[in-house]
Amino acid sequence: MTTANHPQPDTVAELTLLLSEAKSAGASDVHLQSIPEGVEIGFRLDGILQRIRRLHGESSQRLLGRIKYLARLKTYVDALPQEGRISRPDSGVDTEIRVATYPTVTGEKVVLRLFRDRIAPVLEELDLEPPMLETLKGSLGKPSGLILFTGPAGSGKTTTTYAAMRHLLGLGDRHIISIEDPVECILEGVMQTEISEVRGLTFAVALRHLLRQDPQVLALGEIRDEETAAMAVRAGLTGHLIISTLHAGSTPGVVERLLDLCPDPHAVASSLLLVSNQRLLRRLCPACKGDGCDACSRTGYRGRIPIVEWLGFGDAQRTAVRGGDIGALKPTCTLLASAESRIAQGMTDRRELQRVLGP
Ligand SMILES: [Zn+2]
Repeated sequence: MTTANHPQPDTVAELTLLLSEAKSAGASDVHLQSIPEGVEIGFRLDGILQRIRRLHGESSQRLLGRIKYLARLKTYVDALPQEGRISRPDSGVDTEIRVATYPTVTGEKVVLRLFRDRIAPVLEELDLEPPMLETLKGSLGKPSGLILFTGPAGSGKTTTTYAAMRHLLGLGDRHIISIEDPVECILEGVMQTEISEVRGLTFAVALRHLLRQDPQVLALGEIRDEETAAMAVRAGLTGHLIISTLHAGSTPGVVERLLDLCPDPHAVASSLLLVSNQRLLRRLCPACKGDGCDACSRTGYRGRIPIVEWLGFGDAQRTAVRGGDIGALKPTCTLLASAESRIAQGMTDRRELQRVLGP
């Protein structure tokens, strides 16, 4: 306790240095794992945990104590998980930090999540390939229907949704409501709401009430139950533009899943505008082109680019959906083709393609 309350100047400096390094590297998280020799430090960069360095001896434990003290955790407890926050001024690097500790067999593990002031990008900043960008803009210009994004966690769906909302704001005078879990960026002009499972405010409940608020556009975090699916499809048919996400492995898989949740092929077929499936590949570091340098923390990569498979809905696709012929739905570009084109443009490499899409 005394070391934490009256920290040694080198401990304070060590933490500030570590956090400013993490910030300038663009890390989302800092991992500190206690090991018998000290503490192993890693940064999560572009979604991947990278080993940074090892701290030895007493000072490494003092560092963990300092973090726990700033996060208002019990500094003497290391056998139970604890969660807290370091405020923006306390962090010394002008960043709010969420702290989570966990006891492991080699000692305490501490994970720091760095909150960045996220500003929603505009569509052009997503680095979508031009045909997909045009298709998405075209669908967003429609007065009603369903636009659905799929992809695993961390594939950029939320960022795409925010960019879509910003684009819609730019089109002007449409009442836009979002139902999010959680709200990650504030968008002026959008009526943003957040679900709360503990208070019983699920996507379905929120959607039912918000449809009465007369929205023209509804960005719905996720469709994961029958009630939400049925309401979204109906809303898409009655003058609302719905943007949402749905869990599936491919764009035809989204349609299949939607039909499972809402078994009305005619309504589903008529409501769909666009379905996309995306992943993020790490971008080759512009400074070193993959060799590894200080700018990319020796990883060879900096930032990420999306690869996208998409399926637009015209008469042929609608007929296929009405007839339950999912096999007839052919996406416009596959994830593999999109990745190959990014490699050909020198934006990423084959190692990234294999990491994300498999060998
Ligand atoms: Zn580099």
